[in-house]
Amino acid sequence: MTTETTTGPALDVLRRVFGYDTFRGAQAEIIETVVAGGDALVLMPTGGGKSLCYQIPALVRPGTGVVISPLIALMQDQVDALAALGVRAAFLNSTLDGEQRRAVERAFVAGELDLLYLAPEGLRTRAAVELLERGRVALFAIDEAHCVSQWGHDFRPDYLELSMLHERWPDVPRIALTATATAATRAEIAQRLDLGAARHFVSSFDRPNIQYRIVPKDRPDRQLLELLRTEHGHGDGAGDAGIVYCLSRASVEKTAAMLVENGVPALPYHAGLPAPVRAANQARFLREDGLVMVATIAFGMGIDKPDVRFVAHLDLPKSVEGYYQETGRAGRDGLPSTAWLAYGLADVVQQRRLIETSDGDAAHRRNLNQHLGAMLALCETVECRRAQLLAYFGERHPGGCGACDTCLAPPEAWDGTVAAQKVLSTVLRLARERGQSFGAGQVVDILLGRDTEKIRRFRHQELSVYGVGADLAEGEWRAVVRQLLAQGLLTVEGEHGTLVLTEASGDVLARRREVRMRHEPERATRAARARK
Ligand code: ADP
Ligand code: ZN
Repeated sequence: MTTETTTGPALDVLRRVFGYDTFRGAQAEIIETVVAGGDALVLMPTGGGKSLCYQIPALVRPGTGVVISPLIALMQDQVDALAALGVRAAFLNSTLDGEQRRAVERAFVAGELDLLYLAPEGLRTRAAVELLERGRVALFAIDEAHCVSQWGHDFRPDYLELSMLHERWPDVPRIALTATATAATRAEIAQRLDLGAARHFVSSFDRPNIQYRIVPKDRPDRQLLELLRTEHGHGDGAGDAGIVYCLSRASVEKTAAMLVENGVPALPYHAGLPAPVRAANQARFLREDGLVMVATIAFGMGIDKPDVRFVAHLDLPKSVEGYYQETGRAGRDGLPSTAWLAYGLADVVQQRRLIETSDGDAAHRRNLNQHLGAMLALCETVECRRAQLLAYFGERHPGGCGACDTCLAPPEAWDGTVAAQKVLSTVLRLARERGQSFGAGQVVDILLGRDTEKIRRFRHQELSVYGVGADLAEGEWRAVVRQLLAQGLLTVEGEHGTLVLTEASGDVLARRREVRMRHEPERATRAARARK
């Protein structure tokens, strides 16, 4: 959507300075609001064009636009890009030496800057506040505003201090921007930043050019290689640029090495690497074509590479917000791109165990469990993934998007009540009759009636449930256990992630509750073959 109605200085700056013809989406309205001195809270997906929403008002209003951003590593690039357009921009952060800092401060006080970028911690000092008081501030832009949310995944305590901006400079307009926020986070941003009177601008979060796929994790290395080879041109010559996210530093290193061994140009990125290595890998990824960045979530915030063709997750993200933000780095240029996630039983066990053993109080753990629960619901849904993803952000989508795995190959749901009862009664019997709890592997072996050393050692062949699950294959049982964990009908305990019942398990065991499950694609195809 573009608008032709806005004329005057803002449109003039858009054309003359930035070289664009028309505003995009809500840009014109947002810019008008801020130019007129009003506050704004802007929710726009990555690539939506948030920067212009504060850059243009900063150029139109007298004084300097002060931009608060946590992305110190990108400030130099942003300032360079603006300088190339003839915009007078500078930044103040811990990377400057005393001399450089004084030069920026002088320029600001003399009114020679259009934009000044600051790290949030830089505002904590009295000296910083005094500096801002000596110059003229056109507006405050608070970028990545979700960092103020204590329940979010990017919480930065320094952001809580930003409410003082309004107290000190009541007449200076403020614009808070983020690409990640649910209705609850939005309310929290407005409250904590004292933005009660701000106009809210909420763009659609749909990224129609991204295809969402969540596949059962089987042999993740193989599955990833196949994705890169068959769909992204790696294997014969130049392939697409993309990002592969892993949970741990060790798996980043291992996966990057595996890709390189298989002829895919891959680089590692995680917080454990020396800063110069990280910077060099990031720079190469941005400048060269067709590199695959294998990274922890330490990588990516604020990265502006338009032609990232795929984002692959080898581990389960901790929240839907994280998943959305990470996958959102694909396809900023609007061309078809893929968001691919491999997910399995071990992921659920691992995440639940991490929460179980995490520091923090019960409320904190409950919050983490809610975030994980929503992510699991997205993984296990038989509905359109896009519709479910957008619903999480409070946006209605009719479904049937045609560009997610459930739309492309609709999974069948099946009545998994009996299977669920078999699993739950095995867990129950182990606890009641033996006072034991085991991980998913042993429970599945009992159901399948396997004859292993561990079965014999614990005399599990004597349990009445031994061998009652011969109707399903091992992978199917693992999927059943995974879905029970996802649905909160089973949970894990302790360091080894042993299975234990929940309050809700009782309803299933007492036949008061049905359990719907998702067919794994292999199972679906086998069933389809059998029907022929
Ligand atoms: P965000 O910060 O929301 O992720 P950016 O501000 O980096 O997005 O903008 C994404 C891309 O879109 C940039 O390359 C930017 O120059 C471009 N862009 C923004 N607004 C317009 C517009 N009105 N017309 C054309 N291109 C635009
Ligand atoms: Zn869909």
